[in-house]
Amino acid sequence: MINLYALTDAQLRDLLVELGEKPFRAQQIRDWIYGQRIERLDDMRNLPRATIGKLTAVAELGELKLAAQQVSRDGTIKRVYELRDGQLIESVLMPYADGRMTACISSQAGCAMGCVFCATGQMGFSRNLTSAEIFEQAMRFARELAARGQRLSNVVFMGMGEPFHNYEATLAAVHLLMRRLGIGARHITISTVGLAPQIRRFADEGLQVKLAVSLHKSDDAQRSKLLPINRRWDIAALLDACRYYCARANRRISFEWAAIAGENDTIEEARRLGRLLQDINCHVNIIPLNPTGDYTGIPADARNIEAFQVALRSFGVGSTVRVRRGIDIAAGCGQLKTALLLPSARAGSTIRAMPKEAMPQP
Ligand code: SAH
Ligand code: SF4
Repeated sequence: MINLYALTDAQLRDLLVELGEKPFRAQQIRDWIYGQRIERLDDMRNLPRATIGKLTAVAELGELKLAAQQVSRDGTIKRVYELRDGQLIESVLMPYADGRMTACISSQAGCAMGCVFCATGQMGFSRNLTSAEIFEQAMRFARELAARGQRLSNVVFMGMGEPFHNYEATLAAVHLLMRRLGIGARHITISTVGLAPQIRRFADEGLQVKLAVSLHKSDDAQRSKLLPINRRWDIAALLDACRYYCARANRRISFEWAAIAGENDTIEEARRLGRLLQDINCHVNIIPLNPTGDYTGIPADARNIEAFQVALRSFGVGSTVRVRRGIDIAAGCGQLKTALLLPSARAGSTIRAMPKEAMPQP
């Protein structure tokens, strides 16, 4: 079957002509699938039944198969999708009390970067996703939200995989999110483990898409132990690329810091980090570690994190602690897939409405 989401405008037109239809039907169909965000081709009300019949015989809306879903008490939805070749990937939807709806999507099945505390890294790498597979994860949430009169507002590339290790498909997916779903560049964030050449290339794209860099440690020997890619591009090389990005894109950059007790939550570490970042237009996002299978570290406690933030502030470096989402349903990326393979998670398919007061503040 042909996946309509994977077709360019020209390819959709060609398909219709092949089916003996008028080319102008392509625009009508695009309006239905991306404008109205229908879930079934049958819902295209102003198209002749015969046209819909011909289309349904050869094409479908999307190629991801829902394999498992869990809904957290805070409204966070975690999903596992099965791809056509049987690979499993995860997507997450996070509703916020201010109305924002953020999708967290995967760029690869598995990951080759091997970060020791990351569930995806512990699984190893299977393959790159296509731009259509990346895009559809957001599209699925967008169309289910549309059915309830809501809108997908933000997308973050913080699911499984390293987006800059699959650079072309990631960038193509970003363009689809902007063009087809009308999500503004400023509402899209790419998170990278620190592939310096791709950070420079991304700076040259001239997009207003936000960039987050996973730093987690302020000295090379220890960062290399947690994030093996640091042996290829060390902190100096990484921060040079980040400076280039800030200057070229004229944007602030975010650094992610998975706070691990006794590992990277001390005052000395904060001072070393402050010195490294004081000349960079940046912000630090602190994420208390989510425990994962093979890694024995535990999350830093709130008091240490507060002292860490004060020390950072003295270098003029601002930080925030990211609200942990879905803590009752295995919050860390990669954990739901692990659970499925084990096997535990149960499949379900509806987005449950939740009371406003239960939603976390942004
Ligand atoms: N590969 C990209 C994006 C996906 S990971 C990257 O590494 O940036 C998204 C974020 O989650 C990264 O900052 C990553 O370091 C962080 N992360 C991974 N495992 C984690 C864990 N167990 N606890 C907290 N954060 C984690
Ligand atoms: Fe890959 Fe990011 Fe996990 Fe590292 S933290 S293994 S780069 S997904």
